[in-house]
Amino acid sequence: MPRCGRVAVVFPGTGRQAVKGVGSRLLTALFSMHGCTVDVFCTRDPVAGRSLIAGQAPSEFDMLVFTLYDETTYLDLAWFVRTYVKEIAQPGHRAPAIVAGGGVLTLNPRPVLPLVDLACIGDAECLVPLLATAAHESVGGALSGRSSLHGPGFLRSYADPAMCQPVWSEMISMPWHDRIPSYLTQTDYIPVEIARGCPNACTFCQTPASRGPYREASLEDIGEYLRSERLARPAANSVRLLAASPSEYSRIDGLAELCDALGCGVSLSSVRVDDLLRHPELIDELQGRVRLGVETGTDERRMCLGKQFTNQDVIAIAQQLSQSQRVDRITLYFLIGIPHERESDIHSIARLVRDVASRSSKPVDASLSVMIPEPGTPLELYPMVPLNIARRAWQDIADSVKGVACVSSDTRPEDFYITGVLSRGDSTVAAAILAATERGLTVRSHWEEWVACYEYCNVNWERVLYEAV
Ligand code: SF4
Repeated sequence: MPRCGRVAVVFPGTGRQAVKGVGSRLLTALFSMHGCTVDVFCTRDPVAGRSLIAGQAPSEFDMLVFTLYDETTYLDLAWFVRTYVKEIAQPGHRAPAIVAGGGVLTLNPRPVLPLVDLACIGDAECLVPLLATAAHESVGGALSGRSSLHGPGFLRSYADPAMCQPVWSEMISMPWHDRIPSYLTQTDYIPVEIARGCPNACTFCQTPASRGPYREASLEDIGEYLRSERLARPAANSVRLLAASPSEYSRIDGLAELCDALGCGVSLSSVRVDDLLRHPELIDELQGRVRLGVETGTDERRMCLGKQFTNQDVIAIAQQLSQSQRVDRITLYFLIGIPHERESDIHSIARLVRDVASRSSKPVDASLSVMIPEPGTPLELYPMVPLNIARRAWQDIADSVKGVACVSSDTRPEDFYITGVLSRGDSTVAAAILAATERGLTVRSHWEEWVACYEYCNVNWERVLYEAV
């Protein structure tokens, strides 16, 4: 009797959206497969949840599948590879195929390629049948040892429309809800993926290139799913709309009405100011902390980023949000280090935050990021702004808004330089990722420790960050 396949699916990262991706698509395919006998093991966090394969040799598996949410999750993948590579290499051990996917890999898989057998680019819709069949037939191991194999073709995944067939049933629901650990799926909100891709083209964003053509689930399918989930989970009082830019959904008004009728609020990861201008009725549906991607403090600079709204629009929308009973606080997201940025642009950011805060009855935060000109974006050829300049701009903004608004302390300027190397680097970075896990580094470690690690592994981090490509 043939041995049944064994697959471990790992969703590192803390973002709930990480549950979506190649891992969830594979699970859906496996659990929907008639007569499937594959044993599936899932975990969300391979570091804290090392129990995934506790007591089981990785060589017992045919396939280890990682859904990588952002560059920080490369460390989780590397931990696995480093921890088990010795064991896998023992004579007599079959090596499982190490498969990684996720939008983050799509436009620059090079830093990860040496660590995996198969990098699934894009939404991996076209690769899922291949993976499911390999798992079902217990031949996943046949994919191993082919480092640098990545499919379906670097940067060509969406050239052929046949390669991005949406899998609607899987997109709306996760028919494996009750078959994997509840901490992956049990939330006080109902998550529903309403669209893939993004119809916009902000010049700093990878999504339009990495996620393929924009495709939406139908309102009817979403409604059917939400009604059944509402019955099954009466305690869940909000609906989390999953999409790169959820407020772009073409029938967002109908969706808001639907959620209202179900007695649920709507929760969005972030919302575009221009969408709220077009759909002011959405303002009443938003609840909790509302995140606005404002990006810059001047209309001219924002226009260069592909965003067509003004500071006056931001102030007006924030004022309306602050009057809503459901909204607790407003967070404005800004980017430092946009190409051709001037000192006056930094002052404009601080001025805009103060203007919004002075007109808002709710607390206002400014969340700062340093722009990483990422591969696959129109700005990819630019260098990052030097770290010392970013630090000074960050501090200037924090000092200038003190007392009226908070600058979020979730991130530091150097975080973006650590991930900048992971995002823009070449295959030499793979050794540094492995070495970083050996040294116990995280993306919150000191920048100097990362520099030492990069230099130990001969990664030319200055060229990666500061040279125009
Ligand atoms: S920043 Fe948001 S709206 Fe702009 S392209 Fe990216 S996902 Fe779309």
